[in-house]
Amino acid sequence: MSKAETHHFQAEIQQLLDIVIHSLYTDKEIFVRELISNAADACEKLRFNQSSGKPVFQSEVAPVIQVTTDDKAGTITITDTGLGMTHGELVENLGTIAHSGTKAFLKQLAGDKKPDVGLIGQFGVGFYSAFMVAKKVTVLSRSFLPGESGWQWTSEGMGGYELVPAGDLPRGTRITLELKDDAKHFAAESTVEHIIQRYSSFVPFPIELNGKRLNTVQAIWARNKHEIKEEEYEEFYTFIGHDHDKPLFRLHFSADAPLAIQALLFVPPRNFETLGMGRIDSEVNLYCRKVLIQAKAKGLFPDWLRFLKGVVDSEDLPLNISRETMQDTSLMQKLNKVLTGRFLKFLEEQSEKSAEAYEKFYSEYQRFLKEGVVTDFTHQEALGKLLRYESSLLDPGKLTSLADYVKRMSSEQKEIYCLLAPNRAAAEASPYYEVFRERKFEVLFLYDPWDEFVMEHLRTFDGKTLRLAEKADLDLSAKKEGALSDDAARDLAKWLKETLGDKVGEVRVSRRLVDSPAVVVDADKAMTANMRRLMKAMKQDGSELPGAKQDFEINPAHPVISRLDRMRSQDAPLAVSVAEQILDNARVAAGLLEDPRAMLNRLNQLLEKVLTKD
Ligand code: ADP
Ligand code: MG
Repeated sequence: MSKAETHHFQAEIQQLLDIVIHSLYTDKEIFVRELISNAADACEKLRFNQSSGKPVFQSEVAPVIQVTTDDKAGTITITDTGLGMTHGELVENLGTIAHSGTKAFLKQLAGDKKPDVGLIGQFGVGFYSAFMVAKKVTVLSRSFLPGESGWQWTSEGMGGYELVPAGDLPRGTRITLELKDDAKHFAAESTVEHIIQRYSSFVPFPIELNGKRLNTVQAIWARNKHEIKEEEYEEFYTFIGHDHDKPLFRLHFSADAPLAIQALLFVPPRNFETLGMGRIDSEVNLYCRKVLIQAKAKGLFPDWLRFLKGVVDSEDLPLNISRETMQDTSLMQKLNKVLTGRFLKFLEEQSEKSAEAYEKFYSEYQRFLKEGVVTDFTHQEALGKLLRYESSLLDPGKLTSLADYVKRMSSEQKEIYCLLAPNRAAAEASPYYEVFRERKFEVLFLYDPWDEFVMEHLRTFDGKTLRLAEKADLDLSAKKEGALSDDAARDLAKWLKETLGDKVGEVRVSRRLVDSPAVVVDADKAMTANMRRLMKAMKQDGSELPGAKQDFEINPAHPVISRLDRMRSQDAPLAVSVAEQILDNARVAAGLLEDPRAMLNRLNQLLEKVLTKD
């Protein structure tokens, strides 16, 4: 070729190419993403020129991207019918550095930092990533501008490139990569198909691989939600969620400030973590203008929202993106903040819109919300509003929010009361519940052992302290008839302490019991029976926890207690047995009796006594 021109790469480009060529970069496959993105950009620009009325060469040819592989020749070719490049543009665009991604990449390399080749994937060094896999790249291009003709650009990466006239080409650009020996697998159709599906499924122009259309699902997140049909959402969810059932919730939103975000998020119909499948990973993928930047993007949402599936697309990404900003700081954090806030608001809206739908969600995902309360201080308050519990005032199965509970509180009631129990029947029969029933204070029934941690971390709601029933400092409204006198009760308490010795902490006269003769209360103010059980279960050696002692409260109005008082002088040994039995009964009620066998012996002896009484 006589008219061949030889050009040198700009120094920075050469520097970049050296890194790209010599790196052992693992994600070499991203070159496919980069070249297809360029092809899509070219198609987009063509469309823009067409719609602004400019004359376009081969105007009737629709924008399309064609990929062909030839495993015998070891080549992969990417062709687009986009706007193409003139001679000047080939020199400018492929020989000098003008565009942002590469600039940012080079900035990272500035100073004496060691080049981190892992950055390539995130920067997308664009066109030059072709040289990771190709020993030679040939670009044939013809601009859309009438009167232009075709040019061929070739380079082996080192030094420079050659430009020759290529005469009468169709409009657009064709890039052929002659693959290096260790990259020949990129000439395999199945490999390339997989890569295109992964990164470029949502590119808004048809992509054909060896004649077969690949991308059929639209990036509907980028469209106006009022124009999207329900079936389109369903199809999209099936595609990205690999799930043929309908999601429980869908949130489609866009924001302009502080970041340009388009997001389409789904709550899957089932919580796979409770299905015993181990910890799940967030399946929200991060896109920039419909091209995948990071699958299952870490840090996009807090951990406790890991059940979400969907896409987040931000145009602001390529300008700022670098591994550093991705990992620790501002951009990801900003995205996280906006997305989390928006999703929490969405859940609150849903709970107002339909309690039924929200409760369905809640029954699947409450553990995640609770995890959030415990681990994520920033969102604790918002999460508190999303909690739901059964309550002593509502029918079984009905749930209340803390906000509604607070609305029902009388002026007399200062705190929000919660009772931990395995189920409703146990809650209502609990000695700790008696004083609340008698005083008509509403109590939330908490059936999930985690709830204790939740309440401990949340501490208050709407300015009111969340108080566990067994820790509540409440007295019955009036003293019951037939109760022991204060002196007699105090005396009995003293005797009990002497009799029971180390088995209990303090013995007190209770002001909160109605139906139960006695109750045990953890001596440790910060500890409850539930917490003890949880902690014991976590200790593998089964050893006792320190300070496992329980205070013992007796009900002076209960016949068992008043008769016990009498029995002390009549039959001291029997009184001791009964006292021990009352303590064990109270432990049973608290779920703290570990070995009931000793108690059974005693109980049998007591029964024997009762039955031999004439
Ligand atoms: P970026 O896409 O970030 O601008 P690239 O390195 O990927 O950077 O591409 C450099 C430039 O080369 C593009 O900005 C574009 O002007 C031009 N270019 C690359 N591929 C094509 C193509 N298929 N059609 C038209 N122009 C292209
Ligand atoms: Mg590009």
